[in-house]
Amino acid sequence: MSSSGKRILVTGGAGFLGSHLCERLLADGNDVLCADNYFTGRKDNIAHLLTNTHFEALRHDVCFPLYVEVDEIYNLACPASPIHYQHDPVQTTKTSVTGAINMLGLAKRLRAKIFQSSTSEVYGDPSVHPQREEYRGNVNPIGPRACYDEGKRCAETLFFDYHRQHKLRIRVARIFNTYGPRMHPNDGRVVSNFIVQALKGEPITVYGDGRQTRAFCYVDDLIEGFVRLMAAPDEITGPINLGNPVETTVGELATRIIELIGSRSTIVYRPLPVDDPVQRCPDIARAREVLGWEPRFPLETGLKNTIAYFDRLLTERGEKPGASPRQVA
Ligand code: NAD
Ligand code: UDP
Repeated sequence: MSSSGKRILVTGGAGFLGSHLCERLLADGNDVLCADNYFTGRKDNIAHLLTNTHFEALRHDVCFPLYVEVDEIYNLACPASPIHYQHDPVQTTKTSVTGAINMLGLAKRLRAKIFQSSTSEVYGDPSVHPQREEYRGNVNPIGPRACYDEGKRCAETLFFDYHRQHKLRIRVARIFNTYGPRMHPNDGRVVSNFIVQALKGEPITVYGDGRQTRAFCYVDDLIEGFVRLMAAPDEITGPINLGNPVETTVGELATRIIELIGSRSTIVYRPLPVDDPVQRCPDIARAREVLGWEPRFPLETGLKNTIAYFDRLLTERGEKPGASPRQVA
């Protein structure tokens, strides 16, 4: 690989966030190596990048060591939606923990800077609101979400131990709910579920009474935060919250999506999943101060872009009422 930019490894690069990150890093003039085992990622997400000579895709599971030469590593490999990470919980913990050890080992050998995509799930079902980075969380270590939450917490521990013990340059971002084009249509996450249901005219499945809250960040805003954090001075290790601090209830989100689509869908109520956090919203004062970063996309704009993406996808697949499958040449 050669260009005027850096050589950058993105693990989980064929996933939702990873594919947007690869795109952005290429646009900034870097060489990008995407490593993914395609568990939840899709080749379709990166198909448009394959003709770029500065891009390379490698089928690789981060639970195994990787020997490549790069200047920076973004470690995103890990299923992110509850139904995906609970599908094989042992593998989820292995991906977070063994994956982190392998990527940290690679960074140590190369003296490369390494970024970890941590999560607001490290705060569990929070008793402090909004969540600041100092808050240590309220995680059930033996519940169905623990494979993800505790895996990510352990990965943070490893990042900080490599930083203290081996003087590794680390960046740890705690990502809050993010949405946008290329979310997996069947990943069960609330934004993709509601949009797909509304486009198909099917009932919108609100879990619980819909009064639980989340704060939704549009993908372009988040990726800008990633790049700024990686470029920040080395003393800015994080952890740093990245998310949109505008809080909304799940019930309000459902109504908003129905209105934006002009859908005839009704709302149905389903049981709340075990350990589902009651409220979640980031305090992004630290990101504002040290990165000069804050989200710019209002929910409505982000939702319209995401609706347009799913509308195209369902039409191509012939899954929208009134649409016929795309002709295959
Ligand atoms: P995603 O499921 O679309 O992407 C994850 C990618 O990692 C997929 O391409 C998947 O195939 C790959 N992967 C999984 N296990 C792997 C393994 N063992 N080896 C190699 N690749 C593997 O999810 P996403 O939303 O793009 O999330 C990306 C990262 O951001 C994850 O680490 C996730 O925990 C974190 N995150 C995302 C959100 C969000 O709202 N999207 C919130 C918090 C944290
Ligand atoms: N949710 C819902 N209906 C769905 C999918 C999710 O009401 O079809 C709720 C879910 O119970 C949670 C919120 O939406 O309270 C966000 O869920 P998601 O899986 O997107 O993310 P996370 O729980 O990890 O924040």
